[in-house]
Amino acid sequence: MLIYGITELSNLPPDTISELESDIAQCTKCDLSKTRNFTVPGDGHHNSNLMLIGEAPGSNEDKTGKPFAGRAGSLLDELLVGSGIERSEVYITNMLKCRPPSNRDPQLSEISVCERYLDLQISLVNPSVIVTLGRFSFAKFFPHLKLSQSRGTVRDWKGIKILPVYHPAAALYNPSLKPKLIQDFQKINTLLYKKSNTDLSDIQTKPNTQLNLFE
Ligand code: SF4
Repeated sequence: MLIYGITELSNLPPDTISELESDIAQCTKCDLSKTRNFTVPGDGHHNSNLMLIGEAPGSNEDKTGKPFAGRAGSLLDELLVGSGIERSEVYITNMLKCRPPSNRDPQLSEISVCERYLDLQISLVNPSVIVTLGRFSFAKFFPHLKLSQSRGTVRDWKGIKILPVYHPAAALYNPSLKPKLIQDFQKINTLLYKKSNTDLSDIQTKPNTQLNLFE
């Protein structure tokens, strides 16, 4: 199994997403474990070609254990459907698996210790496309780039196509961002059907019909 960025493992890594989610449910590696109600490991199809990575669970996610369960989740569903994609077809997770108190920003120390789980998720799901939602997940892959100048531009990361977009929650606070989100999400369809190399001039377009992301 190919594992990205893992330098220390005290035990053998889990073989399946379900095993990994069980490990996360018991995690006490940072102080967020003291204030969470539920861990929020991820949700969706375990072998999808498309992974979405957000920031951290909020209040609704902490109550349900599911990522993107609140208003930002409803907007995310709307954006996916508008791109011809059902949420059940993708795998969705966050940088952090536990809610930061008062929905504050994730701390670098928390990201550092929790990132092991995300690396394993990427390895196990093995997507061909990752959409980063917001600046924290974009920084994992391209820490020296600014999201405002990079959104909507596809880059290669270890053979995976990375598409950075604004976090849906940002569009709830600033509605002027929503058209940009819609514009960027429309690129997902094209990316999933593009031939395997990264020459964007060689895009294979497809009508906006329902996708099968599991192949
Ligand atoms: S945020 Fe991550 S590292 Fe911290 S307790 Fe939760 S699962 Fe463990």
